[in-house]
Amino acid sequence: MSKKHNDEMMAVCSFCGRQENSVKLLMGGMYGYICDECAAQAYHYANEQLAEQQREALDAKGLKLLKPKEITEFLDNYVIGQEEAKKYLSVAVYNHYKRINYISGNRGKGKKKATGEQDGNLLDLDIEKSNILLVGPTGTGKTLLAKSIAKMLNVPFAIVDATVLTEAGYVGEDVETILTRLLQEADYNVELAQRGIVFIDEIDKIARKSDNPSITRDVSGEGVQQAMLKLLEGNVVNVPPQGGRKHPEQKMIAVDTTNILFICGGAFEGIERKIAQRLNTQVVGYGAQKKTEHIDKKDLLRYVAPQDLKSYGLIPEIIGRLPVLTYLHPLTREALLDILVKPKNAIVKQYEKLFEMDGVKLVIEQDVLEFIVDTAIEYNLGARGLRSICEAIMLDAMYNAPSENKKTLTIKLPYAKEKVAKFTGTLI
Ligand code: ADP
Repeated sequence: MSKKHNDEMMAVCSFCGRQENSVKLLMGGMYGYICDECAAQAYHYANEQLAEQQREALDAKGLKLLKPKEITEFLDNYVIGQEEAKKYLSVAVYNHYKRINYISGNRGKGKKKATGEQDGNLLDLDIEKSNILLVGPTGTGKTLLAKSIAKMLNVPFAIVDATVLTEAGYVGEDVETILTRLLQEADYNVELAQRGIVFIDEIDKIARKSDNPSITRDVSGEGVQQAMLKLLEGNVVNVPPQGGRKHPEQKMIAVDTTNILFICGGAFEGIERKIAQRLNTQVVGYGAQKKTEHIDKKDLLRYVAPQDLKSYGLIPEIIGRLPVLTYLHPLTREALLDILVKPKNAIVKQYEKLFEMDGVKLVIEQDVLEFIVDTAIEYNLGARGLRSICEAIMLDAMYNAPSENKKTLTIKLPYAKEKVAKFTGTLI
């Protein structure tokens, strides 16, 4: 860029009016000049304005929050059963985003100056966030619930596996990398990431291995829990944008976790024993008779309480930061049948769509669906297994259909059995 003027006059900054000889640098454009100081100020101002615009856009979006019942209705489209978990989750999510709106509302008020006694009191009230803990057998919909919530809210969503986390300085990933995933999901838009949802799977795997708290080396247990606490409580955390420790030169990004919702999930295998122990001890106590009458021994998880998590090896501070505790049922045969056909993106619906694209109407007979479910149960494959069984049945049909001119394809039981026999043969 040239700063030379064609005429003899000294060039001046079009913003501050200072002359060329009293600034470090004067840059010329088509219509005027700008000095280095004004350019730096303009850059700063533009950044601030853009960030503010982004915040306002987010606030406007955030305010349109569904009510708890509507959240449950939304979840019903994707997740079968698990009514209890849906209810807890809906209320927690509703409160969480109400809280965010309340905080941003206050931020707005702060700008305009709060008025009136009542407003002042409200501003002092600190609504704490309610991270959630979902306890339930693997493959019963914990991740799906969290994923569906994120879909509903249209916020960045990251899934991380707690088993890869270790205490800083040990082999494995630092806890901060949980936020790296969220940042990546948000395309590194920090504002967006700060309102996202993180699903931490297998949180039970970082339970303290021994009941003895004095154990010094528990790399993947208590140390990780302590580190995780920092994220759950709401703090500004320095996050390596590319994760890991392979890029020591990377510039950290500060992420405030105050408004990030953490949903943790775990199977907590064997926790039923702790629950039973606790319930049994209660049996001895006063009024116990009445309580035990209603205890459903087959579904002890429904009685899960914070003290059971403590006996299982979670530290009280972590339990305290996961105040919403709920459970998921094992999936019944009926639930598995529903999973095949009912959700918005049910497996069967997906196959129907794929065939429809080739102009073929796909019909899978009811006894085939039942057979698929019974096979999943027999081989202990759970809901996750349904898809692989379906794939085994549908592969040849999907291979042949595009070349044939059939209008309808009906999958019958003998055909399904033949295909599944080959599949289950590989399982043994
Ligand atoms: P986990 O409880 O281990 O997190 P997931 O949510 O990942 O289990 O479930 C695995 C898969 O099984 C899901 O992607 C979904 O296809 C199916 N699934 C499990 N539970 C349900 C459910 N309650 N409703 C609908 N689909 C389910």
